[in-house]
Amino acid sequence: MTDTSTSYAAASENRPGPVVARTREELRAARGALPGSDVAVVMTMGALHDGHATLIHEARKRAQHVVVTIFLNPLQFGPKEDLSRYPRTFDDDMVICAREGVDLVFHPTPDVVYLDGDPGVRISAGPLGDVLEGQSRPGHFDGMLTVVSKLMHLTRGTSFYYGQKDAQQLLLIRRMVRDLDFGVEVVSVPTVRESDGLAMSSRNTYLTESDRETAVSLSRALAAGAAAATEGPSAVRRAARAVLVAEPLALVDYLVLVHPDTLQDVPEWYRGEALLAVAARVGTTRLIDNQPLVLGPGGGPLDVFPPRPLDS
Ligand code: AMP
Repeated sequence: MTDTSTSYAAASENRPGPVVARTREELRAARGALPGSDVAVVMTMGALHDGHATLIHEARKRAQHVVVTIFLNPLQFGPKEDLSRYPRTFDDDMVICAREGVDLVFHPTPDVVYLDGDPGVRISAGPLGDVLEGQSRPGHFDGMLTVVSKLMHLTRGTSFYYGQKDAQQLLLIRRMVRDLDFGVEVVSVPTVRESDGLAMSSRNTYLTESDRETAVSLSRALAAGAAAATEGPSAVRRAARAVLVAEPLALVDYLVLVHPDTLQDVPEWYRGEALLAVAARVGTTRLIDNQPLVLGPGGGPLDVFPPRPLDS
């Protein structure tokens, strides 16, 4: 087994750093060596930032053991997407994992995950996978759910932590776990932002200085929309749109106010939980962000949606 515990040990603390498993055999051995049955898993594509660190931190607070997977899943990238230029920063990632007290890092190559190459059998996201992100990224959510389900099985985790940042992904994972009876817990973690509001993302490293200034308009639009939540759907949409219209360098793919479970536009009479979501191209980079909120009297922004029947 590859054990890099010495090199990645958290220097200031007297505990071993994470074990790194790259093959199925190494994972089986390292996972089997974790005592107890309470294992939280944080799945990532690497290039870790404070958003990932927060997921790990939340997992660490609640579970006996934490496993992080670092896997750039080719199945969820389209032919014209950024798989080849996606940042790869494994050594820095391990520093974060060591600091956050991760027990085990699973870092396989595609041939380890997909033994026979392209898998013939895949998970289908269904209609929820065809809207919003799915419209611009056909097949993305099938590829995402396929790897998530494989990693759930391979890691044998009992709870799995995902960011609200990827709201549609989170919804689809919850649906998969419920609809296909995976019997595991899914935990959502609020979006972690830069001090000016920009949602942290591994893709932010693609942004030039001027892109970076444009990019903040996404979170500003969401905040403006959420501030109008008491007035109802059209006020929210109008306030968010006004911010984006003033920033023509953000090429908006969609700006929607939808029901959090169906991803369908909410009608004007609707009051209750809703998701304000945006996707835009800034320079060469496609960015997404969203804001959960409650519409109606006493309404306003939420960090994450409260637990719902979907979670059990
Ligand atoms: P990724 O490496 O981009 O696939 O993300 C791995 C996990 O981290 C997913 O559950 C994401 O939703 C979550 N994540 C990414 N960025 C953030 C952020 N800014 N705040 C909270 N969670 C995040």
